[in-house]
Amino acid sequence: MELERWGIYQVRLPLPFRLDHVLCYAVQGREGWYIVDCGLNIPPAREAWEDFLAAHGVDPRDVKAVYLTHFHPDHYGLAGWWQQLTGARVCISAADARLAGIYWRDGARAAEAVRELFVRHGMPPALAREAVGAMKELMATMNAHPSLTVVSPHEEVRLGVFNCRALLTPGHSDGHLCFYSPALGILFSGDHLLPHISSHVGLWPFAQQDPLAKFLQSLQECLKLEVSLVLPAHGEAFANLPERINQLLEHHRQRLRLMKELAAPGATAYEVARATFGDRLTMHEVRFAMAETLAHLMHLVGKGELVVREAGKAVVFGAPPNAVRGA
Ligand SMILES: [Zn+2]
Repeated sequence: MELERWGIYQVRLPLPFRLDHVLCYAVQGREGWYIVDCGLNIPPAREAWEDFLAAHGVDPRDVKAVYLTHFHPDHYGLAGWWQQLTGARVCISAADARLAGIYWRDGARAAEAVRELFVRHGMPPALAREAVGAMKELMATMNAHPSLTVVSPHEEVRLGVFNCRALLTPGHSDGHLCFYSPALGILFSGDHLLPHISSHVGLWPFAQQDPLAKFLQSLQECLKLEVSLVLPAHGEAFANLPERINQLLEHHRQRLRLMKELAAPGATAYEVARATFGDRLTMHEVRFAMAETLAHLMHLVGKGELVVREAGKAVVFGAPPNAVRGA
């Protein structure tokens, strides 16, 4: 499918991480332009947008709305800049508007809560401090903040010459939205569905305490959609949605099996994270590895396949008392 036929342009913006790009979308309508996701607030990303506007002769005042799939910095980061530049409304789900406030406006309290959570789950305090330090650096890039307009689940939003339904797909974030055009069979999937990597699903303070349950459910929901093309935020567009969803479901089944085995004899989340992800992670990755491990372990606790107990200052996971080995 030729995207430009529908006025859709993919805009690749740089990220200073191992995952080195985020894909945002600019959609041209008769009355103006619409943006899906903004990029991280760093000079090369702003320049990439400025180049795009110049190349397509877009007057910033012609941008009608900015839609955010979720509140993470590589999607939300430039939203304030966009609003200052264009005056457009910036739309996001209610849950992610709340989390953007907690994590990016009132960041010190969130960073402290993350540090405490990691230490309670066995991470050495010095490492936890360093991992959270990397998070604070990101928070500093988040100014200016946009004033946010809340989009409700199932709300129809204008996107160029077509309408999209906002689908609530929680898991990667509590209020993650995909934008779906049934008429075109196009799904703007944000970070919910990616072609090569599995989306991060982590347990974070102030958010859902079993995000993996939500994520798996959101994947199942997406199996019902009629989609001919998925436009993700990382990696190229892809067509085989059911196949990709089944791969992701299988990935999490395997990950759950592995972490259950690792935790069964008694282990902290940090020990399970080290055994799963190794010890050659950047500080940015350490944070995600730990939150991802916690999400899987707490999901197993929710299903009765693991139990948690306090051991001194740390929380230890283990097999339920009457579990039959190998059952
Ligand atoms: Zn994200």
